[in-house]
Amino acid sequence: MKVLYKQRCVRCRKNMVKMISRKQFPLCYDCQKDELKGRIKDPKIRKLFDVPEEFYRESPFLRSVKIYYLKFGRVSEKQVEYFKKTVEELKKKD
Ligand SMILES: [Zn+2]
Repeated sequence: MKVLYKQRCVRCRKNMVKMISRKQFPLCYDCQKDELKGRIKDPKIRKLFDVPEEFYRESPFLRSVKIYYLKFGRVSEKQVEYFKKTVEELKKKD
């Protein structure tokens, strides 16, 4: 995921958010932290989302997928695919 630009979080107006798409709503990790909490029943999905908290802090995309799942109880194959891809990219960074 390439960062296009950075924009100030619209909620706290303090932290900068890495924007990866122009459609992305600029919210920072701190403001989304609570939305990332929730019970995941599906063991496959639980495993998918079981990545270091740092990755969620780093990637607004990973946050959006997890929050989407917690809200709607499903994710598309494309979302899963890109989620895994992003996690791989983040792992390589270390
Ligand atoms: Zn914020």
